[in-house]
Amino acid sequence: MAWGKDLPGPLRSVDEHVAEALGLAGPLLPVELELTEAAGHYLAERVVSPWPLPLFDNSAMDGYALRSADVVGASRSAPVALEVRGDIPAGPIRGSLPSVDSPGGAVDSPGGAIRSPGGAVRIMTGAPIPPGADAVVPVEATDAGMHRVRVYEAVPAGANVRAAGEDASRGDAVLAAGDLIGPAQVALLASVGIARVTCHRAPRVAIFSTGDELVEPGEMPGLGQVPESNSYALAAGVAQLGARPWRLGSVPDDPGALRQLLDRVGAEADMVISSGGVSAGAFDVVKEVLGGSGTVSFVKVAMRPGMPQGIGTLGNGVPFFGLPGNPASALVSFTVFVVPAIGKMMGSPSPLRRPVMARSTERLQSVRGKREYLRVRAEVTPEGALSVRGAGGRGSHLVAGMAAANALAVVPEDCDEVRAGEEVGVLPWSGPWW
Ligand code: AMP
Ligand code: MG
Repeated sequence: MAWGKDLPGPLRSVDEHVAEALGLAGPLLPVELELTEAAGHYLAERVVSPWPLPLFDNSAMDGYALRSADVVGASRSAPVALEVRGDIPAGPIRGSLPSVDSPGGAVDSPGGAIRSPGGAVRIMTGAPIPPGADAVVPVEATDAGMHRVRVYEAVPAGANVRAAGEDASRGDAVLAAGDLIGPAQVALLASVGIARVTCHRAPRVAIFSTGDELVEPGEMPGLGQVPESNSYALAAGVAQLGARPWRLGSVPDDPGALRQLLDRVGAEADMVISSGGVSAGAFDVVKEVLGGSGTVSFVKVAMRPGMPQGIGTLGNGVPFFGLPGNPASALVSFTVFVVPAIGKMMGSPSPLRRPVMARSTERLQSVRGKREYLRVRAEVTPEGALSVRGAGGRGSHLVAGMAAANALAVVPEDCDEVRAGEEVGVLPWSGPWW
C-alpha cells in the first residue's frame, strides 16, 4: 500500500469546522415519551398548564387555620383561645370543608374561654384552607389543643397560606419548546397532569474504530498492538449527552471490511462516528473508502490535538465524523465538533458550549497558529472562583494523562502561552468539574 497524499490547501479554522458540523443535521422528529424516559431530552413543543399551581389555597404548615383578625395581639403571656371546629388532613376532601365560622362536627365546646366569634380548624401541610380562614398559625405557636387551642402568636392575613395560582396561572406556558427536561421540569410536567411529553428523539449514534493494531480490552496486546479504547470512550461520551450509542467495535485497516460495516449500519443510525484512518499515512482506510464519495471531505483543522478530520454525510444522508485515532485527538474532536452536532439533533436551541473563564495558577504553554485544547485540572476555589492548572501533558497519545484532566483550556490561535494568573476559557471534559 502506498503512502497517502498529504492534504492540500491551508488549515481550516476550528470555527469553520464547527459550522460545518452544525450544518450536517437539524433536530430529529419529535416523539412522545413517558415522563420516566423524558429526562435529558429537549421539548419539541411548549407546555401549557391546564390549571393553576398551586391548584387551591393550601397550608404551608401543620397548624391551625383561622381568621388573622381573631388572634391580633396574641402572645405567650396573653394567648387567644379558639374553638377547634374540625380537622383537615392532606388528601381528598369528602363532602365540604369544616369552616372556622361554624361548628364542624364533634367538637366539645370549651365554653367561656373562647374570646372571639371565630374558631380554628386543625390543618396539615398542603391541605386546603377552609372557608373563612385567611391564615395558618403553626402548631409550634399553640398549645396543640384538640378541642380548644391556645394561640401564642399573632399572624398577618395570608401567613402560611400558599395561594392558588401563585406559581402559575391556568393557561400559562410553563415550559417552552427547546427547554431541556431535567428533574425540576419532570416535577412540573407531573404537576400539570402530563404523563407523556413530546420531545425530540435522541439520536442513535453508531461508533466504530479502525486499525490493524487494535485488540479488544481484556485481550493481551502483543508487540505492536494496543487495546481499543476510542469506541468505548466515544460511546461513553454519547451516552453522557443523553443520546444512544451503538458501538460497533473495530475493523481492520481493510477497505472491504469497512465497506461491509458501513452496509451493516445502513440507515439504522442517525449519525456515524469513526476513529482512526483519516490522516495522511498509508492504511488510512476511512479516507480511502469514503474519500471518493464526494459527500465526505478530509481536511486539516488548525487545532491541537486533532488536526486531521473527516466530515460529511454518508450516501444515505447520515452525518459522519471521521475522527483521528490518537485517543486524546479523538476525544477532543468529539468534544469540539460532535457534541454540538448531537446537541442540535437532540433539539438544543444552543448546542455550542461556550468556554467559562478560569484563572490559571501556572504558566500553560500552547502552540501559536492553532487553537490548542490543553488538558487541565479545574477546581472551584474556596472563594467560589474557577482555577485551572495543567494536567496530563499535551501529547495526543497520553491516555493516563487525559484521564487526569477534567477540563480543556481553550488557548486561541494567536497565543502561545497563558501566563500564571491569567484567565483562560475552559470547557468541561469527561464530566463536570465540581
Ligand atoms: P490513526 O489516526 O489511525 O493513524 O491512529 C493513530 C494512533 O492512534 C494509532 O497508532 C494508535 O496507537 C492510536 N489509536 C487509533 N485508534 C485507536 C483506538 N480505537 N483505541 C486506542 N488507540 C487508537
Ligand atoms: Mg489507524
